[in-house]
Amino acid sequence: PTPHGSQISQTLQDIAAEIFRQDDWGQPAQYIPELASVDPKQFAISVCLNDGKVLSAGAADKPFSIQSVSKVFTLVAALGRVGDQLWSRVGREPSGATFDSVVLLEREQGQPRNPFINAGAIVTTDSLLCKREPRTALAEVLELAREMAGSDDIFINKKVARSETETGSRNVALAHYLKSHGNLLNSPERTLGVYFHQCAIEMTTEQLAKAGRILAGLSGAPRVISRHHARRVNALMMTCGHYDGSGDFAYRVGLPGKSGVGGGLLIIAPRVASIAVWSPGLNGYGNSHAGTRAAAMLSKATNWSVF
Ligand code: GLN
Repeated sequence: PTPHGSQISQTLQDIAAEIFRQDDWGQPAQYIPELASVDPKQFAISVCLNDGKVLSAGAADKPFSIQSVSKVFTLVAALGRVGDQLWSRVGREPSGATFDSVVLLEREQGQPRNPFINAGAIVTTDSLLCKREPRTALAEVLELAREMAGSDDIFINKKVARSETETGSRNVALAHYLKSHGNLLNSPERTLGVYFHQCAIEMTTEQLAKAGRILAGLSGAPRVISRHHARRVNALMMTCGHYDGSGDFAYRVGLPGKSGVGGGLLIIAPRVASIAVWSPGLNGYGNSHAGTRAAAMLSKATNWSVF
């Protein structure tokens, strides 16, 4: 049985208290200068239940850089726009490699392993861009995030986007490599322009938890994606949502999730809840250190694991 709202509230408070007792917070992403300076000792967790209620603990109204969590939004948008054709360009297998891995792309001749590693997300964004203006595709992603969250108060942090544009050489390399294999329809500059800006969207854990309602199949969620596609996005989140840490996340949490180097996590408890966690210090896989710990504690306390 699902615990009551008041029980969950207490659990979230207990988790936050336990997190604030920890000594090791991990380190914020260093390769994006604008993120490197964020104080790692921050934490927020929000849970959206089937009745639409959002329960939170910590800094749940503080916007943070969603980074790769945006890959969920672009995948939802691309499945709606190009449908299963996307799979002729991107695979659906876990990579077992870092999120920005170049070596796999060479081995697989320009076909990224899945849409949640950088190379796969760049292709997904490229498919969304198609022959449209970058600002149109970007507006579609931002509007989708707003619609899913049920909030217009979601914006792109231009400083973060610029910071990554200036230092994102590895993503530029990935885009050129994709292009050399004919797996990028636009110029690397156009596609990466959208990609860097989508990564720089900022949301609070409250907004992000609400944005996951449709994936969790909760009542009252805006129907931006079919049940059929939502189920598949969850499968990809379970197998590929944490890069080379995906197996470990499945083992510890047992729920589909997607991480970002801003320290955010979107986690889906199918038919029960949508969960967002944020803490900017990262573990060795580039996933939130405290966020992953908190997710494991929540899953244990509620029994929400799908296994
Ligand atoms: N914007 C980041 C990048 O492309 C996103 C990576 C991540 O969140 N893991 O490197």
